[in-house]
Amino acid sequence: MGRIVSIGECMGELSETGSPGMLSMGFAGDTLNTAYYLRHSLGEDWQVDYVSAAGTDGLSDRMVDFLKSEGIGTDHVRRLADKTIGLYYITLKDGERSFTYWRNDSAARRLASDPAALNRALEGADLAYWSGITLAILSNQDRLALIEALGHFAGKGGTVVFDPNLRPRLWDNPETMRGWVHRAAAVSDLCLPSFEDEATWFGDADAAATARRYQAEGARRVIVKNGADDVTFAGGSGELFRFSVPSVEHVVDTTAAGDSFNAGYLAAELNGASIENAVAAGARLAGRVIGARGALVPDAVTQA
Ligand code: AMP
Repeated sequence: MGRIVSIGECMGELSETGSPGMLSMGFAGDTLNTAYYLRHSLGEDWQVDYVSAAGTDGLSDRMVDFLKSEGIGTDHVRRLADKTIGLYYITLKDGERSFTYWRNDSAARRLASDPAALNRALEGADLAYWSGITLAILSNQDRLALIEALGHFAGKGGTVVFDPNLRPRLWDNPETMRGWVHRAAAVSDLCLPSFEDEATWFGDADAAATARRYQAEGARRVIVKNGADDVTFAGGSGELFRFSVPSVEHVVDTTAAGDSFNAGYLAAELNGASIENAVAAGARLAGRVIGARGALVPDAVTQA
C-alpha cells in the first residue's frame, strides 16, 4: 500500500455548452489534474490524496464531492468558513480558448497556513507532488512553510516531485517567480518542467540546459517535456537521455498535457517501469489527453 499526496488548488471551471445561457460546471487545476490521472492510472494499492483548502459553502462541497467521486482522498482538504474555491470561465472564440479567473481570494491560497496540518497530510506519504502554481498562490510566509515541510518530508525519505509550471501572471514579477521556483527545486527529488516556458522565462538554450539548471539548484533528476519534441531526462549520476514522443494526429486541446504526462510517468515509475518505459507511458497518456477537449478526459487512461 502506497500513498501519494498532490498539493495545490482545484478550481471550479465554467464553460459554454453551445446552448445560449447554459454553462457547464467542472473542476480542474494543475495538481488536481495530475492527482486525477494518478488515481485512474494506479491500482487500489495506492491511495491518492489531495492537499488543499476549500470553504464550507455549497460550491466547496461540490468540489470536495467531486474529488471523492473520483476516488481521491479529501481528508487533507482544510475547510475554511470565510472562504470559497476559485473559479474560472472558458470562452471559446474561433477555436481558441481564453480564460477569466476569480481566484485572488480563494481558500486554496491558505493551504499552507497551518504547518501542523501540512505535516499531518505528509505523514506516512511516499510521494508528494506540487507545482509552481501551488507556490505562486501562497503568501511568502506560507511558501516558506510549505518548502520547509517538504524539505522535512524529503529528509525522512519521502519523494518530492515538482512541476515548475511557470505562470508569471500569478507572481508579482518574473524575478520573484524565478527565485521561488529554484528554492522549490532545491527540495525536490524530481523536477518536471516544460521547455517552452523555461526558455521564455529563464532563457535556456535547449532542454539539456533546463535540466542542468534545475540540477544545479538541487533537484536530483529532471525530465524536460517539450511538446511534440523529445523528452529529455537528466539522472542523478550525470546521465542525459532523449526520448521521442508519439505523434498526435489531431491535437484538439493541449490543456493538461504536462499534468497528465507527469501522472503517466509517475504511475509507471511507481509500478517499477524503466525510465524509458515510464516516459513512454507519460507521453502516451498526454497524447490521449490532448486529443480531446478539457483537462480531465475520462477515457484517456483506459485507452493508454
Ligand atoms: P508540454 O508540457 O507542452 O511540453 O507537453 C507535455 C507532453 O505532452 C509532451 O512531453 C508530450 O508527451 C505531450 N505533447 C504535448 N504536445 C504535443 C504534440 N503537439 N504532439 C505530441 N505530443 C505532445
